[in-house]
Amino acid sequence: MSGITARIDQLRPMIGNTPMVGIRYRFEEEERIIYAKCEYYNLTGSIKDRMVIQVLSEAYRKGKLKPGYTIVEATSGNAGISLASIGRCLGHKVIIVMPDWATRERVGLLRSLGAEVVLTTRADGGFPACVRKAEALEASLSNVYYPRQFENEDNAQGHFLTSGPEIQRQMQQAGKTPDAFVAAIGTGGTLMGNGKYLRTCYPGIQVHPVESLQSRVVSTGVSHGIHRVPGISDDWNPPLVDLKTLDHPFTVSDGDGIIMTQLLGKKLGLSVGISSGFNFLGAVAFQNKYGGQKTAVTVFSDCSKKYLSGTLLHDEPQLPEYLANHIELIDYFAVR
Ligand code: PMP
Repeated sequence: MSGITARIDQLRPMIGNTPMVGIRYRFEEEERIIYAKCEYYNLTGSIKDRMVIQVLSEAYRKGKLKPGYTIVEATSGNAGISLASIGRCLGHKVIIVMPDWATRERVGLLRSLGAEVVLTTRADGGFPACVRKAEALEASLSNVYYPRQFENEDNAQGHFLTSGPEIQRQMQQAGKTPDAFVAAIGTGGTLMGNGKYLRTCYPGIQVHPVESLQSRVVSTGVSHGIHRVPGISDDWNPPLVDLKTLDHPFTVSDGDGIIMTQLLGKKLGLSVGISSGFNFLGAVAFQNKYGGQKTAVTVFSDCSKKYLSGTLLHDEPQLPEYLANHIELIDYFAVR
């Protein structure tokens, strides 16, 4: 296995050490800053590379994954793209089960990286149907590895070991002590791993999920409808997430998150994905509740390119209750 371990180590410099931006903005005349880790600087352009390299290297170490095995996973996109890139590079066949409502850029990227894509429909049973199909594939194939990203502790560990320490170092560089880490939940790896690490350095830090007002899956345990923030709130609270260890969720409207994402691009030139604008508003909601001068850290999980055929270029109706109506973006600085 030492050959594979060496191959994985050769890939590690492609992942992590991403910049952190401090975004200065005004909320109804009060000047504030929100810190965000630019995770689109990773190998495949998303935060999921951190979990994939950790999950695969641990699977090899534990003997669950061996050369020649097929990798199967259920994903709404970014984890699949990362598994395809790293899995193919290590010589594996990769089969990705994903919803057919994922943007066509996601499906195209997966195919361009040599993955086999199996699509499920809402009629099949929403995102849980992807998980059931991945389980069925695992059972029917031999020499297969199914990472089970929604329950695999190595997912959160990828963030605990990498982005957590990077955030601490970068906040130190910025001369700030974070009061909160705020992020939406897909698998929960980002929130649980970073939250756990940051609590070891800052015992009082608050760790808040952000959820879609259109689904409210974190606060209620079940999805109340279809939301429009790809990569998060996949119809249930994933097993990795222990809500008892987290602070209360902030609820943000999808349309508000879409408008915020558009503003980050148009006003600051930050070309981010929809969950990034959504996370930014989660951090704004934290400052609204606990104080505008509190230091909030979040993540920009991916960039805009996978959303160009989706809602990013839509003329989104600007409803009076949206937080984005009160936000004037000023500028940003970066630390690395
Ligand atoms: N944003 C995007 C765009 C994602 O693809 C994901 C992962 N599905 C997340 C946020 C949430 O990350 P995590 O799975 O670590 O909770």
